[in-house]
Amino acid sequence: MKTTVPKKLFQKAEKLIKDKSLSVTEPRKNILAFLLKNHGPFSMEEIHDGLGKNACDLATVYRCIVLFENSNLVERRYLGDEILRYEYKDMDHHHHHIVCRICKSVSKMKYCFISEIEQMIRDKGYSDITHSLEFFGVCAKCNQK
Ligand SMILES: [Zn+2]
Ligand SMILES: [Zn+2]
Ligand SMILES: [Zn+2]
Repeated sequence: MKTTVPKKLFQKAEKLIKDKSLSVTEPRKNILAFLLKNHGPFSMEEIHDGLGKNACDLATVYRCIVLFENSNLVERRYLGDEILRYEYKDMDHHHHHIVCRICKSVSKMKYCFISEIEQMIRDKGYSDITHSLEFFGVCAKCNQK
């Protein structure tokens, strides 16, 4: 799945990396720009494939993603199997996913009803609260077959 990433996304990626006080390298910039352009979540292999030939090796993708995860730039998503998948962690557009069990298609669900629960937890004195929740079902297309 090779896609052309617009120049302004490379600039955005560069800024995001700098904002985390990380040094900007070509692979880091390419990987983050790819994740800004495409909604995943993607496995390490999918990111590697998405970058196109000769971008960097898979080990570099691993190292970058681990670094990005520790810096809160990407988020790990569990889609009900063993594969680790990641997507860009957009603080302004928190969302959940609905995953089709058959074709594995992933849709975004923008609505989140959990903020009230988080408030309850905050009231108990907790800080830095996050949550992770994905939904699974059989999509409309698969139901037609
Ligand atoms: Zn489906
Ligand atoms: Zn998502
Ligand atoms: Zn939520």
